Amino acid sequence: LIEARDLTLAFGETPALRGASLAVEAGEVLAVMGPSGSGKSTLLHCLAGILTPDSGEVHFDGRRIDAMNEAERSALRRDTFGFVFQFGQLVPELTAEENVALPLLLSGTRRAAALAEARPWFAQLGLDGLEGRRSGELSGGQAQRVALARGMVARPKVLFADEPTGALDSLTGEQVMELMVAAAREHGTTVILVTHEPRVAAYADRETMVRDGKAGALSAGRIAS
Ligand code: ATP
Ligand code: MG
Repeated sequence: LIEARDLTLAFGETPALRGASLAVEAGEVLAVMGPSGSGKSTLLHCLAGILTPDSGEVHFDGRRIDAMNEAERSALRRDTFGFVFQFGQLVPELTAEENVALPLLLSGTRRAAALAEARPWFAQLGLDGLEGRRSGELSGGQAQRVALARGMVARPKVLFADEPTGALDSLTGEQVMELMVAAAREHGTTVILVTHEPRVAAYADRETMVRDGKAGALSAGRIAS
């Protein structure tokens, strides 16, 4: 579904990607592992059309994301991709259900319909009764589940998750991961998951390792490419 070929990207003098390649099949949950500063987030942002690589290609569903203009990319991010980040980044002024409904509201769904789509996620993710809370009134694990619901509410083809459990203790993080993978499997969502933690990566179908801006498929514990 997504294939990146030989991506390079430098921030000024700092090379972040130095020939990173990976491929993700539709419906697959792929974990992207690697040390801090190795280029995981930069790679994710290139795959999602948030950053443009200096060289290399990003193919999604037969289209070249890296060659799209900003309007095409933002349409893709809005209509086809979902996002969950390390710190949920909920909008503090909105209630939990408004936060979940936000992607739908931004793509023009009417408020009542958007909230109706948001509500079932509260039961699915064990958040019943928290619909009216603001983010400051949620625990870390609850806020991260709200962020997960927001990432999934528009039924994205691909969910990009960057350290989605990074701010949680390991038990809560594993619960969020279990819910995320279950939701993805139920909806056939492809997931690209950046994590440091082997226990979190264990929920994925496959792992890729990023080292010094290079990515290669891991099979049987070895970097294969
Ligand atoms: P972590 O596990 O700590 O999140 P990472 O693998 O996600 O690390 P990246 O955030 O992709 O790493 O960063 C890769 C390299 O690019 C690092 O050397 C980082 O300092 C640099 N870098 C990342 N973003 C920027 C930026 N906006 N401006 C300048 N340098 C950046
Ligand atoms: Mg990162």
